[in-house]
Amino acid sequence: MESHLFYLSSNPRPELERAEGIHMWAKTGKRYLDGSSGAMVSNIGHSNPAVLAAMRAQMEKSTFGYRLHFMTEPSERLAAKTAALCPGDLNKVFFVSGGSEAVESTLKLARQYAVAKGEAQRFKVISRTPSYHGSTLGALAVTGYAPLAAPFAPMMHEMPKIPAPRAYLDGLDLEDPATGEHYAAMLEAKIVEEGAQTVLAFIQEPVGGASTGALVPPKGYMEAVREICDKYGVLLIHDEVMSGGGRTGKFWGADHWGAVPDIISISKGFGGGYVPLGAMIARDDMVQTVMDAGGFMHGHTYAGNPLACSAGLAVLDEIERLGLVENAALMGDKLQARLRGLMNRFSFIGDVRGKGLLTAFELVSDRGTMEPLPRELNAFDRLVEHAYAQGLIIYSRRTRGGTSGDHFLVCPPMIIGDEGLDELMEMLEAALVSFA
Ligand code: PLP
Repeated sequence: MESHLFYLSSNPRPELERAEGIHMWAKTGKRYLDGSSGAMVSNIGHSNPAVLAAMRAQMEKSTFGYRLHFMTEPSERLAAKTAALCPGDLNKVFFVSGGSEAVESTLKLARQYAVAKGEAQRFKVISRTPSYHGSTLGALAVTGYAPLAAPFAPMMHEMPKIPAPRAYLDGLDLEDPATGEHYAAMLEAKIVEEGAQTVLAFIQEPVGGASTGALVPPKGYMEAVREICDKYGVLLIHDEVMSGGGRTGKFWGADHWGAVPDIISISKGFGGGYVPLGAMIARDDMVQTVMDAGGFMHGHTYAGNPLACSAGLAVLDEIERLGLVENAALMGDKLQARLRGLMNRFSFIGDVRGKGLLTAFELVSDRGTMEPLPRELNAFDRLVEHAYAQGLIIYSRRTRGGTSGDHFLVCPPMIIGDEGLDELMEMLEAALVSFA
């Protein structure tokens, strides 16, 4: 049948019939293990009965009540629960329907806050390369992934970028505090170069997502970045769209370092694949300042609808009830140990990295130099195809700013147990053997 969609993969994909737990079934009957939780979304697994029941119950009452006309119990309760999970005095929640919307909201709130404080000259948002913050024009302007932004360059204000702290590529020791200082110094230098009084914010993914392949910052980096932001009056935005919600083995990725930003974005696992849902959470004094100055000039129609919030609430309840943050930490350690074990067998695995179940491995032609595999090898697509053939879904991206290099995210739902992990590793090994 001819498809009228134009966002499908260029490779033929099976038609999805149903999904449950960590598995998905195609119409052909073939079973797949969802080894990337979709795009790191289905964190609590598919078809969770408690979430479905909560959604059904809400649907019987109301599915939509516009936020300027009604307050709703699910949105109030989800906001309170989310705020309680946040560090510092970040306790004001603004709902959206996805990650790009969440990031877009952080940029606009930061800007309006600066204007309200009489610092209208601050507008530049520094970010890292590579990074991915979303596909809308504002979020794309702070995304460090050149091929995605190139066609739209004339339509965006180019934002300053600094290198992501990729110690493994630069031959630096992740555990050496000098490495953290080295990369954080790049932020300070960029702020000074741009003119500190013009810099509004710095945005980063605490544990990297698809663009860096689960990049973990070096020792001392997160602390140094916070200090530098404070020194120059620059707001710190943590994009936790992928790392938030427990996948890294702590609720927020930044919790691994006790780092407290000024604004957070979250999505993906927040709606858990049940509904499109995201949020921005900000310090209450910032929100108050913006509200006192006339209100936040931003919003999306579907934001905070009761159906989405009832699902989000049930997702958070299930994460708590099933101890999924702790399970992500435990199973993430096991997964990473087993992926490292594969490095003995497959010399083309150059690096294994991540926190909890936000985990990736990178393929290289030379582990010593970290030289990527030749592009003609098309590892990016080929390994995914071999995994598909086995019945395993993994997520691939180019690693060097989107231009070359291949990494693969192995991020199964946080409900995975030992049996699921055995199944995943067996299929991944078989895929690597066919690829080799
Ligand atoms: N920020 C990060 C860190 C992401 O990983 C993503 C999506 O991959 C986004 C923002 C954009 O989210 P969405 O695709 O829901 O718009």
